[in-house]
Amino acid sequence: MSSLKESVQLNNGIMIPKIGFGTFKIEDGDSVRSAVRSAIRTGYRHIDTASVYGNEKGVGEGIKTCGIPRSELFITSKLWNSDQGYHSTLKAFDKTLELIGLEYLDLYLIHWPKTFNKESWRALIKLNNDKRVRAIGVSKFKVKNLEKIIQDSGVVPQINQVELHPRFTQKELYNYCFKKNIIVEAWGPLMQGMIFSEPLFIELSKEYNKTIAQLALRWHYQLGVVTLPKSVNLDRMRDNVDIFDFTISNDDMARIAAMDQGRIGPDPDTITF
Ligand code: NDP
Repeated sequence: MSSLKESVQLNNGIMIPKIGFGTFKIEDGDSVRSAVRSAIRTGYRHIDTASVYGNEKGVGEGIKTCGIPRSELFITSKLWNSDQGYHSTLKAFDKTLELIGLEYLDLYLIHWPKTFNKESWRALIKLNNDKRVRAIGVSKFKVKNLEKIIQDSGVVPQINQVELHPRFTQKELYNYCFKKNIIVEAWGPLMQGMIFSEPLFIELSKEYNKTIAQLALRWHYQLGVVTLPKSVNLDRMRDNVDIFDFTISNDDMARIAAMDQGRIGPDPDTITF
């Protein structure tokens, strides 16, 4: 269980647990409340939500009833696209805190690269300076998007949360973030369920006597990225964090990385919402 608390240091000194619990598509109310509570009781200490998931209230209720002190948890939410801009970002953050029922967040992210990123980023810097959020970052940002906000503000994000899995390894972006000391967080680490029919993973699962989810998440862990697997199923929640008693060989790490073919989610450059 202690391995679950394994953390990495962000560029502002804050520690983030390397495995987080994803909550995308878990309905608000009882579903997300009980999923978050179960995840925390299983040992997760890092929860990822977003304003657009519509479940911040239930996530907060799960946190408040889990029996673990707030100070031991790492909670992330994200700014939605229609709220981008300086004043609207500050307002959206207030709403998120009110819904989730917490006094501060550990991490707040700009959800998508959009026109008003510079203004939104300045608002996140203010929230960080005001100690209302311990770390700030972005999501789905490409190198060009990162460079713009860094040049404008001189402040390097702590996190970039992007699609990253064996079919989309984001090598160039990963290397850029590594050089800038930006931690990469992988969303969709199980390829939103598609990984379970990948022939290489079916083969490796037999070879290592581990589940496909364990192999995928161990691959992320060895790569040095933070992962956010989502499951509403208690056995799978446990499975997804039980990845610390084996090692994938260098050859197999490379075979997995060679699956790289392209993203499964939308390209942030072409999306219009
Ligand atoms: P994941 O890659 O985590 O896959 C989730 C799917 O895999 C669900 O269908 C789940 O089903 C299934 N699953 C999970 N564990 C297992 C297992 N051990 N065995 C079999 N099936 C399993 O996809 P997500 O899209 O949820 O990504 C993870 C998180 O990343 C999100 O929840 C969200 O927090 C974040 N995210 C961020 C985005 C962004 O724009 N920044 C975009 C998308 C996601 P079940 O629940 O029934 O177990």
